[in-house]
Amino acid sequence: ESFQDVDMGEIIMGNIALSRYTRPTPVQKYAIPIIKSKRDLMACAQTGSGKTAAFLLPILSQIYTDGPGEALNAAKASGTDNGKYGRRKQYPIALVLAPTRELALQIYDEARKFSYRSRVRPCVVYGGADIGQQIRDLERGCHLLVATPGRLVDMMERGKIGLDYCNYLILDEADRMLDMGFEPQIRRIVEQDTMPHKGIRQTLMFSATFPKEIQILARDFLEDYIFLAV
Ligand code: AMP
Repeated sequence: ESFQDVDMGEIIMGNIALSRYTRPTPVQKYAIPIIKSKRDLMACAQTGSGKTAAFLLPILSQIYTDGPGEALNAAKASGTDNGKYGRRKQYPIALVLAPTRELALQIYDEARKFSYRSRVRPCVVYGGADIGQQIRDLERGCHLLVATPGRLVDMMERGKIGLDYCNYLILDEADRMLDMGFEPQIRRIVEQDTMPHKGIRQTLMFSATFPKEIQILARDFLEDYIFLAV
């Protein structure tokens, strides 16, 4: 098995080669074709399994295929970014929610690696750091946003982020996010009216464990999903 088994386009293939990943890990081998086939996914995978690349590679590949300008053009056409908060509100095409600053930064680093030489600009926002600097970075453009739930709610309330064109939603380490008490913020983000509904967006959940609370979240957020345990 190799990364060549699924065609993810020139940019991704080139960046995989640059990253020196020679063989897909098991979660990558099974998850990538499922994600490329546009199905929702509930994956049980541990840290260190390679789960980050398992979702970033096919999602970035899909964004390149869709055209990174699509969502932003749509936002401009609708005029919603010229509202009372000014025109620098960002409409990411993909959103990755993560429990901690450390994990968010790791995901962001991988996203930067795999978006090299593309028009896709990843951003990261997390709590406990200067929000002004994060806002200035967002305003330079944001196609893929990695965020901790609390800071994202703050950014939404400040009118800096709109999820109207968020076609891809990923919840990473979902069990840890619930353990940390983020369920209200997560529901607020995912269940807002402007967010594309399940079945329209593609949603992926990653979790080390699959207790009742995660099953309920999967039932609420995922549409006709595939369950993968590695
Ligand atoms: P993760 O489980 O996503 O946190 O990844 C764990 C570590 O494995 C990270 O340092 C990745 O950069 C690395 N990694 C992920 N996929 C591969 C691969 N296919 N080949 C080699 N290293 C990888």
